[in-house]
Amino acid sequence: MYTLSRGAASLSMMFYLMLSSVQAYAWHDKTHLSIAEAAGFELWYSAAAPDVAKSKSEFRPIEEKNHYFNNNAQKEVDEAMVLEQAARYNKTGDAEGHLYGAIIGAVRAYKEESASGKYAEYPLVFCAHYIGDLSMPLHNTEYDDFNKKRHTVNDGIIESSVRNNIGYIQRNMSEITIENESDLAREIAKVANTARRLGTKIRKENRNMTGEEAYIQVSQSSSLLKAVLNYVRKKS
Ligand SMILES: [Zn+2]
Repeated sequence: MYTLSRGAASLSMMFYLMLSSVQAYAWHDKTHLSIAEAAGFELWYSAAAPDVAKSKSEFRPIEEKNHYFNNNAQKEVDEAMVLEQAARYNKTGDAEGHLYGAIIGAVRAYKEESASGKYAEYPLVFCAHYIGDLSMPLHNTEYDDFNKKRHTVNDGIIESSVRNNIGYIQRNMSEITIENESDLAREIAKVANTARRLGTKIRKENRNMTGEEAYIQVSQSSSLLKAVLNYVRKKS
């Protein structure tokens, strides 16, 4: 599956880490693009844009809390938790974050804007990005020393190979059907819980994700995004 040799991959990874040591906190850009492209999203090439918006200090307080949920209580994620977070979409001053609610909020924004006849694709760009962050273990678990120390490297685990592995992601995708907001919330919770479990595992084993594990995670994001696109575009 990997198209780069180990040596080339680790060299480019080192270089990448040098370049990206100051920004961070989401799968890196090419990983986000690939998640969205594998899902068949027409605007896949914009899927990293929410991180660009977040990098402007004026926007940061509004945008950044949409990208993670630290789950300090280490609770199993369920439909109710996801829906409860929706009211916090784009809200500041929420230390724990509200990634799950941001996905719901972006889908609602798309529905409202498209119903009013506006060009409504940009809420879906945010949605595609948040669904990408959803499968990243360190966006679903405490921001502890482990998370701080290993965040950037784990964000970039497959960054150097991912653009050549869209087909591999697609072959790992599963079929999901979403008929309503409850279905959506339940599917968000499922991906969040796999990410949490992997987050617990790598902490216990004190290591980074493997490439294989990262590909399994992003495939789940692509599956969910594809289902969301089918859901929101369905004429009712
Ligand atoms: Zn992000």
